Amino acid sequence: MIDKKLFKEQQPVAFRTLSNALKSDRLSHAYLFYGPGGATKSRIALLLTQSISCKHCDEDGFACQECTSCKQIERDENPDVYWLRPGGLRQTKPLSRKELTAWWKNELVVREQKTWRIKKEDILAIQEAFAAGAITNADHQTYILEQYDAATPSASNSLLKFLEEPKSNLTGILTVDELSNVLPTIVSRCQLIPFRARSRAALVNELEEMIDDSELVEILAWSEYDLNRAGSLLEEEAAFEIRDAAQAFWPNRTKHTALVDLQLGVFAKDAHPSRPAVEFFLHCLLYYLEKDQTMDLMHLDLRMILLEGIDALRLPLDPALLLERIANGTRKRSLRH
Ligand SMILES: [Zn+2]
Repeated sequence: MIDKKLFKEQQPVAFRTLSNALKSDRLSHAYLFYGPGGATKSRIALLLTQSISCKHCDEDGFACQECTSCKQIERDENPDVYWLRPGGLRQTKPLSRKELTAWWKNELVVREQKTWRIKKEDILAIQEAFAAGAITNADHQTYILEQYDAATPSASNSLLKFLEEPKSNLTGILTVDELSNVLPTIVSRCQLIPFRARSRAALVNELEEMIDDSELVEILAWSEYDLNRAGSLLEEEAAFEIRDAAQAFWPNRTKHTALVDLQLGVFAKDAHPSRPAVEFFLHCLLYYLEKDQTMDLMHLDLRMILLEGIDALRLPLDPALLLERIANGTRKRSLRH
């Protein structure tokens, strides 16, 4: 769930612009979210999508995030929402654990061969999926193209044609880190929503009042855990032990025993590690990865695996299984380079 109060405080421009559009029912046919911090932009893209369909919006026009419609969209189960993200998992129906496992395995294999990009076929698939009009009674369709920075030129040409013929009940959301990575002709057809980096110093100060461990504070702030999330992590999860496990795992990630240590250690207390625990573990690994400061191919590959792992935690996948896949993926990639 997105903390709407924090959203308002930290991204005032985005908040105000989207709130006005939702309240006056004047949505743009395409939004371009740009600026640092992929996670925030994705979360707000989700909130905007939910807000379009939710019947219980707050006074600012934003979704309740709790009703059936909001939950469906969060789980990627709404046929009128087409979400294209790195990894390319698209769902029109809930997937079984077996299907998800197969997808995840396949994705790791596919990704060993090529880098993920948004392609022309992806854009054409969206057009095709939406050609017949809305399926649910919300009567609105939304597509989200995450990390549009990674689009091929032919994908952009197809998207451009799509944007040139706007439909009244269709909204697109593109997210990019760098505006300069997007064709000017696309930029000019989208409403721009700037996202700014949050003051990390402010967050660090607040976290320091809560935790007496400077590295843990640094990891939490670096991973953009707000006070609420950091608080519940500390209360319910073994944040310190997870950090220690990540610290021990990182230099040994090429060894089979590294995973076994995790399964016998911090993630073994019960057979099913919680999502927040696994998510924090992945954030710790990302932190240690960035601290290595070698921006080579392996670095980028590992970063992608970890970010996608965090993203996949939103899906109904067994966190223990996910952890195993990521540990194996990380090991293989580290050995290959
Ligand atoms: Zn709702």
